[in-house]
This record gives sequence, C-alpha cells and structure tokens, in this order.
Amino acid sequence: MAAGVDRLLGIDLGGTKIEGIVLAGDGTELARRRIATGRERGYDHIVGRVADVVAELRAFAPDCRRVGIGTPGSLSARDGTLKNSNTVCLNGRRLADDLARAIGLEVLLENDANCFALAEVRAGVARGARVAFGVILGTGVGGGIVVDGRVWAGPQHVAGEWGHHRIADEGPDCWCGQRGCVETFLSGPALERAYAAAGGPASDAAGVAARAAAGEACARAVLDRWVDRFGRALANVVNILDPDVIVLGGGLSNLDVLYGHGIAAVRRYVFNDELRTRIVRNALGDAAGVVGAAWLAAAPV
Ligand SMILES: [Zn+2]
Repeated sequence: MAAGVDRLLGIDLGGTKIEGIVLAGDGTELARRRIATGRERGYDHIVGRVADVVAELRAFAPDCRRVGIGTPGSLSARDGTLKNSNTVCLNGRRLADDLARAIGLEVLLENDANCFALAEVRAGVARGARVAFGVILGTGVGGGIVVDGRVWAGPQHVAGEWGHHRIADEGPDCWCGQRGCVETFLSGPALERAYAAAGGPASDAAGVAARAAAGEACARAVLDRWVDRFGRALANVVNILDPDVIVLGGGLSNLDVLYGHGIAAVRRYVFNDELRTRIVRNALGDAAGVVGAAWLAAAPV
C-alpha cells in the first residue's frame, strides 16, 4: 500500500464556515483549513469553495479517493437531494453529485448529527462502542446511529431522527408539519419559551438551568418538566435501539442536570427494571462535525 493511502479527508460544510481536515489512518490530525462559506453568493459559489478546500488539503492526502462531507439537513434517499438545510440555497440540489463532479473524487455525504455520532465512536468518548446513539440538543434536536463504526442511516435515510418523534398529541406545532415533536419540547429555544411562558425573565437555556440550580422556583419547575420529557424521549430510543452508549452533544449537552436528574428520568421511563446504558457528555465538542466527516471515508472496522 502506498504511503498515505489510508489518510482520511473530511469537510464540515456549515452555514458560515467550511472546515476541512486530513487525518492519518490512526486518527492523528495532519492538516486543517477553515474558510468562510459565503452562502450569500449562492450554490455554485459554495460548491466551488468546498472544492478549493479539498484541493488544498489533497497535498496532505494525495492518494485519497473519497471525501467525507458533513452538513446540516437531511438527504432524500429517493433522489439524493438535500432538504431542511439552514443554508437554504443547498435545498433541493443534488449536492453530493455536484461536489463529486467539482472535486473529482467520490463523495460521501451525511448530515451533521450522523457525523457527530460517528466522530464520538471513532475518536471520542464512545470509542469502540458497537451500537451508539448520538444526540444533538441545541437550536434543533437531532440524532445519529452508529453500528460497528458505520453510520446506520436506514433505507429512507431517517434513522436516528428522534427530534421528530411525537411525544404529545396536543404539543406545539413543529416546522416539520407535525406537532408535539421532541424538538418542540427539548430544543434550546423551546426551553427558553417555556420559561418565558411560565413568567420568567428573558433567559437562555444555560440561564434557566443556573436559576434553577440557585433555587428559583419557576426555573426549577420548568427545568424539571424539560428533564422529564428528556427522559421520556430518550427512553423511547433505548427501548427500540438499546445502544451501548448515548453521547450528548449540542449546546445544551453542557447542562449538568442531564447527567444526574436526566439519566434518572430515562431510567424512570425505560422498559426495564434498570438502566445500564451509558449516557455521557461528548468529548470532541465542535470538532466532531469535521472529524466525523473524515471518518465517513474510512474502511469498515
Ligand atoms: Zn417535527
């Protein structure tokens, strides 16, 4: 095997920045580049920017034949188009095909939640886990499933989308067209809205948690309800998937309450008399997106 053939090249395509990375086969970082996406300049510009970053990074991975790319949104299994991206000019486009043409290499595209889960299994806190579920708790709520070191997306590419499990018939309307989705209760904005609706002052999610920890009754009641719903929602996942580990990511994964009362709430609702599932904070933070993208291009374990 030629030197460097096992190197992994990954791109995290976000709304504000495009980040690229080259990893050695053992996960060591060899190079990293970051540029502005310039999304206001449109689709063709973004595709060209990604190709520029890949071209630059190929100096560190001259033999690689595949590029992993992670981006927000969901991929249609029907025609390969992207939807639900917050970079709206990408929606409805065959992004993987167009990138493959511009780059001249095979492109493996996954959403950012799947990349997060893969990164934590290959290089983070869930390293070596057979079945892992990665949770994103932030502005939105998402998830990704990794089995034997590979993303499990399913034939319709919806596996792991727990943010749109309905947990209440009469819950808030969701942008997806349903109501009472997990995301409408557990996202950061949902927690902030619940606190405001209960009479609390304007506060971000971390602020609500801090007020609750300081003993403020209103914040405590709102946070207790939020944690209880977290338990219900995640117990559903455990009942179906029974993963070896659940890794929490996204801004709200920094809330300590999840690793105490949160785990207790999952235990309360799981269909078992004990909860042995490890539920842990991510190890890679914001780096998980680009690291996971690179691991998309790896050989199976
Ligand atoms: Zn929804």
